[in-house]
Amino acid sequence: MEKPFFKNLIKIEPYTAGEQPKGGDIIKLNANENPYPPSPAVQEAISGFDAEQLRLYPPMDAAPLRQAVADFYGVDRSCVFAGNGSDDVLAAAFRAFFNSDKPLLYPDITYSFYPVWCDLLRIPYETIPVDEGFNVRVEDYCRENGGIVLPNPNAPTTIGLGLDRIEYLISSNRESVVIIDEAYADFSGVSCVPLIKKYDNLVVTQTFSKSRSLAGMRVAAAIADPYLISCLDAVKDSYNSYPMDAVAIRAGAAAIADREYFEQTCRRVIATRERTAKRLRELGFILPDSSANFLFATHPGHSAEKIFTYLRERGIYIRYFRKPRIDNYLRITIGTDEQMDRLIEELERLLGR
Ligand code: PMP
Repeated sequence: MEKPFFKNLIKIEPYTAGEQPKGGDIIKLNANENPYPPSPAVQEAISGFDAEQLRLYPPMDAAPLRQAVADFYGVDRSCVFAGNGSDDVLAAAFRAFFNSDKPLLYPDITYSFYPVWCDLLRIPYETIPVDEGFNVRVEDYCRENGGIVLPNPNAPTTIGLGLDRIEYLISSNRESVVIIDEAYADFSGVSCVPLIKKYDNLVVTQTFSKSRSLAGMRVAAAIADPYLISCLDAVKDSYNSYPMDAVAIRAGAAAIADREYFEQTCRRVIATRERTAKRLRELGFILPDSSANFLFATHPGHSAEKIFTYLRERGIYIRYFRKPRIDNYLRITIGTDEQMDRLIEELERLLGR
């Protein structure tokens, strides 16, 4: 029976993350995680952590991590915000920057957390269709809006825009805040962080979950003009002054300081991506050139849902979205060369090659 207070409870359709399968012999290519461990410096930072310090609250505003991010990008520390994964950072950013009656704009095919935050925070929004080839046309965003959010490269389509297109988008929308979600940008080499010096309406979010192998630690940052960072801090300090714990702050700072390991890991993932894309095309799959650590593929002769189920039954987990325009596509995270070989073998078996 419906209880009287039920009418006051939240009614929202939450975001659904990729499945977290249990068991030993599985290949997990469904959450865009990195197949390689974090930098050895992260292990050292965690092992050397003195539990006695947990008596105290963590460093104010995750200062050592913000400083390490600032050093990496060559910006002032006042331009950096840090949070508990980019979902935390983006939620704070939606709260801080999108308080207009005009609609927030983002692509119809994109990260499916954006509509959830809009519902949660009651932000009006409009989706802008990507073209037939899934390309974002920045010209379509030159219209009245209360803000813009765009992943570059876009997810799950894997398609990245060049800096000139991103700059066009930001410079044509000087009256609103533009968030560029660079969750996967390290796999394309295109980042618009340098543009924050020129555009005070730009916010770039970055995560340590993908290129720095720290999905389990929950570490991310936003880089922007100091005034926008102060708005993010005001939001953070209005719901939780210490979203980042002391261990995550240390591990994150150690990860970003090891530039060499990071570059080497990105190169490995990119090499496997290119090799896998080639082999999938040889099997008849159609896929855009990927700028991310995953591929987005369709097969003209086979249903994506059936391929997804077939692989799942064989312990290979990829991602399938039952959504308009992309319900015959598969999102495949790049694993190790060996994992991708296993995937290709299973696909060859299924497609009878
Ligand atoms: N943005 C995009 C485009 C993503 O795909 C993801 C990963 N689900 C995130 C942000 C959030 O990642 P995290 O919270 O692990 O930093």
